[in-house]
Amino acid sequence: MDKKQGNDIALKIAAIYLIIGALWILMSDKVLNFLVQDRSTVTLLSMVKGWIYVLISGVLIYVLISHSLRRVAKAENELLISNGILTEANRKLEDSYHQLAVSQAELEKQYQQALIDQKHIRENEERYRLISEATNDAIWKEIDGKRDFSERWFQITGHTKADLEQMDSWEELIHPEDIEDARELVHCHINSRTPFYQCEYRLKKQDGQYMWIRARGKASFNDDGKILQMAGSHTDITALKEYEHKLHYFAYNDQLTGLKNRLSLFEILNSRLNLNSKQNSALLYIDMDNFKYINDTMGHRFGDMLILKISERINSLKIDHSTLFRIGGDEFVILIEKFNTRDEIEKAAIKVLRLFKSNFDVEGIMIYAAVSIGVSIFPEHGIDTNSLLKSADIAVHKAKEAGKNRIVFYNEPMHKAINDRMEIEKQLRKAIENNEFILFYQPQIEVATGRVSGFEALLRWQSPEMGFVLPDRFIEIAEETHLIIPIGELVLRDACLFLNSLDEMGFKDLSISVNISMIQLLQDDFVDMVFENIDAAQLSPKQLELEITESILMESYEVIAGKLKLLRNRGVKIALDDFGKGYSSLNYLRELPITTLKIDKSFIDTIMGKTRDKSFTDLIIRIGRSMDLCVIAEGVETQEQMDYLVKHKCNKIQGYLYSRPIPEEEALKLISKSVIKMVKEN
Ligand code: C2E
Ligand code: CA
Ligand code: CA
Repeated sequence: MDKKQGNDIALKIAAIYLIIGALWILMSDKVLNFLVQDRSTVTLLSMVKGWIYVLISGVLIYVLISHSLRRVAKAENELLISNGILTEANRKLEDSYHQLAVSQAELEKQYQQALIDQKHIRENEERYRLISEATNDAIWKEIDGKRDFSERWFQITGHTKADLEQMDSWEELIHPEDIEDARELVHCHINSRTPFYQCEYRLKKQDGQYMWIRARGKASFNDDGKILQMAGSHTDITALKEYEHKLHYFAYNDQLTGLKNRLSLFEILNSRLNLNSKQNSALLYIDMDNFKYINDTMGHRFGDMLILKISERINSLKIDHSTLFRIGGDEFVILIEKFNTRDEIEKAAIKVLRLFKSNFDVEGIMIYAAVSIGVSIFPEHGIDTNSLLKSADIAVHKAKEAGKNRIVFYNEPMHKAINDRMEIEKQLRKAIENNEFILFYQPQIEVATGRVSGFEALLRWQSPEMGFVLPDRFIEIAEETHLIIPIGELVLRDACLFLNSLDEMGFKDLSISVNISMIQLLQDDFVDMVFENIDAAQLSPKQLELEITESILMESYEVIAGKLKLLRNRGVKIALDDFGKGYSSLNYLRELPITTLKIDKSFIDTIMGKTRDKSFTDLIIRIGRSMDLCVIAEGVETQEQMDYLVKHKCNKIQGYLYSRPIPEEEALKLISKSVIKMVKEN
């Protein structure tokens, strides 16, 4: 009920009350006067009637007011309830509003982020486009298994987009041998095992040829770790691979024959011996006999061609589980893996030897070549690469010593020889410090006059541990360890001083011959060192003769020839020692400033043998003399040899027939006697 309705009802009640009241007042008195005539009764009744009116009005007012109040209370109550509901609704409304505000902010944020992302995507796309265009690499990206390549990719592979569409997958282009690795590496990266993906594989180009590709890539993931996309590059590394391949080839192969080389042998052996230490392996160390001679007489080019023919011939031999290596100039190794008996190895070695029965045709020249073979077996003869190769090397040396063109298996006594060598090396170092070396002198006699013209100084070692040691046992070791450099200088010094003491005693015009090793000759200061010692002993350079061997000459011809000329120019004599023992090249005699030819003992020994050999010694003497060289015969032991040499006009002799190498004091006595004898004879 609104306010106006309330007022209306109140007015109506008041009007009714006024009307009823007015009627009551007007009518009731008239009715009373009509019904009752008695005045006092009328007055009484009027008073009663007044009180009744007041009573009824009071009751009426009470009923009305109480009714109204109840309604007001009820309305108030309802109002309170409604108000509660309203408050609750209002709170809910406020909550909703709040939530709405939060969502809106979030939405706003997301919208902003989306804007940034979009910008980034645009930038990335731009960058991707720029990179694709600028880089030499091909760029790719893969989303949902679909791969897109940049223009550059099509350029380098020669494929077209249409080509790719016809394929089930671009991966068909990867070389079948590489595909597994390529996939595996992608897998590793996707499973976060690698920070990025990288792989090298061959990819088929449009022309059917394979190119080498270096593929790199990186995947991006969503928050759940699911892959979104992957992108990367393809670099053409074909040239790099070829270069790498070539480098590897040069490092591990011999350029002349194309065979695997020493480095390769070491790597293969190292890996095999470690991995399969239970498996038998054998090395056939094949060393050509007399190759230096061939090289020297026929020239290096010819030598190379022969090596090539030999390598081809050995390679044509099919030995099971074997690999052929060229590990040095004229040295080959066959590695045989897996075999049952030593017999099998021996048979294989015999097959190799037999290959050399027929001559080799090198540019129309038929040449005979032979080899010596040393064999070592794993594990008996060495448990690592070095020792196994060393054993085979020792065995091949033994084969040479035994007369070449044969097979020798390594054995323990050879090992003992190695130990001896090691002991000698150890003792040699001490020997220099402790002055354990002395010189013996062997006289050289002029055949025509019988006069002692000089001595050859020969080194002796008086070792407290090993006793009296002959040079044959230690010179080679001293050379290998370069100890020959200080030792050789000692020899030269003492020999010169010895000659000086003879000189001072009045034995004039004698000469001293000193043996020189290649290692010494190769020293930069060698020539200076020689002159220093000559000067220190106040000798004339022509009193000194340096004995060198052919093996020395063969190796560093140029360097050595230069030094010999310097020495010769100032008067020092040069003797070619052991002539005929090795592979004498007459070229040396012609080209080098040689003054003396020493015919090796092995030739002198043949003087008692067949006529053919004898005449050969004679030939050497004639050649030497024809070249104005002084010819000395070494190791003359018999009168028969002496007679032969006198007859063929050999200049000098040296040998046990006249004297063994003797210590200084004895040499002094000998020269005194010889001079006295000469004086008497004259
Ligand atoms: P070589 O220079 O050929 O010396 C000659 C060798 O033959 C000497 O052996 C000598 O004792 C020996 N000999 C001499 N006459 C006869 C003979 O009638 N019959 C026999 N059976 N042998 C004879 P040695 O002294 O043992 O020297 C051996 C080799 O050691 C020398 O051969 C030489 O190459 C080397 N050598 C010796 N001393 C030195 C040195 O001071 N320096 C260098 N680098 N090598 C040296
Ligand atoms: Ca000599
Ligand atoms: Ca000699």
